[in-house]
Amino acid sequence: MKWWGWGLEDVAFTHEDKPELGPFIERALGLDVGRATASPPSFSDLHVPDPALPDTLSSVLERAVGPEWVSVAALDRVVHGRGKSLRDLLYQRRGDLGRIPDAVVRPGDEDQVGRVLRAALDADAVVIPFGGGSSISGSLEPPREERRPVLSVDVGRLDRVLSIDAESRLARVQAGTFGPDLERQLGARGWTFGHYPDSFTHSTLGGWIATRSSGMQSDRYGDIADLTRGLRVVTPNGVLVTRPVPSASTGPSVREMVLGSEGRLGIITEATVHVRRLPEQRRILGYLFPAWPAGVAAMRDIAASEAAPSVTRVSDAPETLLSFATRKAPTPLDRVKSRALRELLQRRRDFDLGAMCLSFIGYEGDRRHVAVQRNLAERIVKRHGGVGIGASPGRLYDQKKFDTPYIRDFLLDRGALADVSETAAPWSVLPALYDAVSSAANAAFDRLGARGYLMCHLSHSYHSGACLYFTFALNPSGRRDPLEEYSEVKESIQQAFVDSGATLSHHHAVGTEHSQWLEQDISAPGVAMMRALFEGIDPGANLNPGKIT
Ligand SMILES: Cc1cc2nc3c(=O)[nH]c(=O)nc-3n(C[C@H](O)[C@H](O)[C@H](O)COP(=O)(O)OP(=O)(O)OC[C@H]3O[C@@H](n4cnc5c(N)ncnc54)[C@H](O)[C@@H]3O)c2cc1C
Repeated sequence: MKWWGWGLEDVAFTHEDKPELGPFIERALGLDVGRATASPPSFSDLHVPDPALPDTLSSVLERAVGPEWVSVAALDRVVHGRGKSLRDLLYQRRGDLGRIPDAVVRPGDEDQVGRVLRAALDADAVVIPFGGGSSISGSLEPPREERRPVLSVDVGRLDRVLSIDAESRLARVQAGTFGPDLERQLGARGWTFGHYPDSFTHSTLGGWIATRSSGMQSDRYGDIADLTRGLRVVTPNGVLVTRPVPSASTGPSVREMVLGSEGRLGIITEATVHVRRLPEQRRILGYLFPAWPAGVAAMRDIAASEAAPSVTRVSDAPETLLSFATRKAPTPLDRVKSRALRELLQRRRDFDLGAMCLSFIGYEGDRRHVAVQRNLAERIVKRHGGVGIGASPGRLYDQKKFDTPYIRDFLLDRGALADVSETAAPWSVLPALYDAVSSAANAAFDRLGARGYLMCHLSHSYHSGACLYFTFALNPSGRRDPLEEYSEVKESIQQAFVDSGATLSHHHAVGTEHSQWLEQDISAPGVAMMRALFEGIDPGANLNPGKIT
């Protein structure tokens, strides 16, 4: 994992195989993509503070997990000091590492996790559980002013599917299992978990649970909160165990308290989760709608219908334009196909090529089920003026979705800042929410005198509403610190969410990035209840202090 950016050291985004992207970014942000103006410093130029790990704590930890699993190496501590939010990346690139952990500890089983936690509490040290390090909400960074020893507890050695109860369709999985390992181990036995966040390659089951994550196929499989049944969590009071029952009437749900707890209640070691048989067929088909309101209405009606697709997603016009601009150089056959499509759309008088919206709908199951579902969904698409554009855009989206996150580093190298803010609201609120966010972001760009671009897609549909996922990019004005200008745009968008009756985040968690909106979202008594929970379980504030509230 890069210490300054997303993903693997040897993987990077490039515009060179996408002929329309450079001109598109030039038009949208006034940025010359041919010229990289900034690059991360070399690691050897960084000032990495020495670890302050008391000898007694160090020896207890080494006895608990083995000396080779207690690391004070500079790179290890820097990689574990932050997640991957835009703010994290900017600080790292500036060589401002913050308060990095004093040691990275890697327990190999639940008993060792317990011994590490006990040792940390006895020494009044801070413990920050670490999964894949893909947090985008500031959920991993120790508070800058923290004076106690800080341990990052990396659960990556807990990486196995322990057992599968085929009759109940439940699997016991260790919390440090990364997405690809999980699907590989389940797939070898004919099963799938079906949870595919865009960060899938670099995030873990424990991290998904601790942040209430959601994956692209949540319409069929559910969010992580739906997928997680039983839990094992090492807490200051011992190992908390919830039974993997389908539902329970046992007072307020302890399982729900752990979901989204961001390491503040303990270290999740294992979960029992829903698994499904690998589907016989999986198709993601592309559609175009004449405009955003038609696309949103179609997704709403699909959610209300008997159709049960695995993916429902529609991009607004700005995101559609970017999607088309990221296409690779077309083959002669592609050219013929896109000419034919263009002619078809031009004959349709309700289609304005600058306003149309790209949509993907996914279908999974046996062939007959897929055919029936597709038929049901496509009738609704047609009713809202949509047209099918076949399998290749969906196939491309499916193949490329894990590469897209690398674009943020590409833009940072050229001086532009890009980030995301996502939310959820009832269907009746979504149109006004979309307008409010667009106005707020554009007003912020104007105030700053900076070139900016805002785009959105709707995904993760539910019975009563959906998630709106906004991406924004900013070419800073040069008059202020770019981080301040970024914060002004991000805050305008987040404020528009809560002012419109939506939530501060649908699946990126609270961390430190979103905590200022928590009270407006869940009310003051809600925040007080949460604080009482954290203080009751962890009176010394040793567990990931400062996150959520
Ligand atoms: C490019 C990019 C794309 C993303 N796309 C998505 C997406 O599509 N959907 C989505 O939901 N999220 C997405 N995210 C956000 C992020 O990937 C999720 O929040 C993810 O769930 C974090 O998992 P992780 O294993 O990386 O956890 P980490 O980042 O390591 O930790 C996140 C939080 O969980 C706690 N934690 C981790 N493991 C444990 C454990 N075993 N026990 C207790 N606490 C623990 C940490 O202390 C921290 O508070 C994206 C992030 C990036 C950078």
